[in-house]
Amino acid sequence: MAALLEVRGLKAFYGQTQSLYDVGFEIESGGITTLLGANGAGKTTTLRAICNMVRTDGSIRFEGRDLKNMATEEIVRLRIAHVPEGRGTFTTLTVDENLRIAAYTRKDKSAVQTDLERVFTYFPRLKERVQQQAGTLSGGEQQMLAIARALMLKPRLMLLDEPSFGLAPLIVVEIFRIMRRINEEEGVSMLLVEQNAALALDLADHAYVLETGRVVMSGPSDEIKNDENVRKSYLGY
Ligand code: ATP
Repeated sequence: MAALLEVRGLKAFYGQTQSLYDVGFEIESGGITTLLGANGAGKTTTLRAICNMVRTDGSIRFEGRDLKNMATEEIVRLRIAHVPEGRGTFTTLTVDENLRIAAYTRKDKSAVQTDLERVFTYFPRLKERVQQQAGTLSGGEQQMLAIARALMLKPRLMLLDEPSFGLAPLIVVEIFRIMRRINEEEGVSMLLVEQNAALALDLADHAYVLETGRVVMSGPSDEIKNDENVRKSYLGY
């Protein structure tokens, strides 16, 4: 199957500092790929590079199109939705306003109400809190809102930056279950950055391990899960 996203020889720079050296990976259409690695390995930077939020060199192709010189807004219009670390919701706006703003780039405005309802089927907790200010939601609910917002873009590809960060285990399990449903029912492909390697490897079909800006290991998740080094370093058994 042709790759939906193909990244080759990716380098990234913050000013004079180079953070990615030679990163390459693929996501199959309908697939879920995870990037694992310790703090500072370059996972967040890789997501930023795809959205052209950091200076890069190398090749990033989405459905064969080169994203390299595209503005971040154009990349969003290709229906690549970034769920950043820290969630990026508007804390003083309500749940409803956050979701409607997310749909502003869409041309089919009349379908937005239908899509709100569709998004609420995945996130009934948000439906119950539709007029609540986003900043007063629990951490788990805010993460749900961040994913729901991305879903309002009708994404082909979601870039998810540590959705489990700072959340209690039960809510993390719930969020990962919803992500699986979104992948299966909506056909949304995903690139998932995670510290929680066990959960990420359960969800993803392919995994890449980053170390100081380089891919040091890659393969089907089942193989990576059983690799002794990965088990010791990331799974803790
Ligand atoms: P974490 O799990 O801690 O978020 P990460 O794998 O996502 O780590 P990145 O945030 O991509 O790692 O960071 C990769 C490297 O780039 C680190 O050395 C970091 O210090 C550096 N870096 C990240 N953001 C900036 C920035 N805005 N300016 C300068 N250096 C940065």
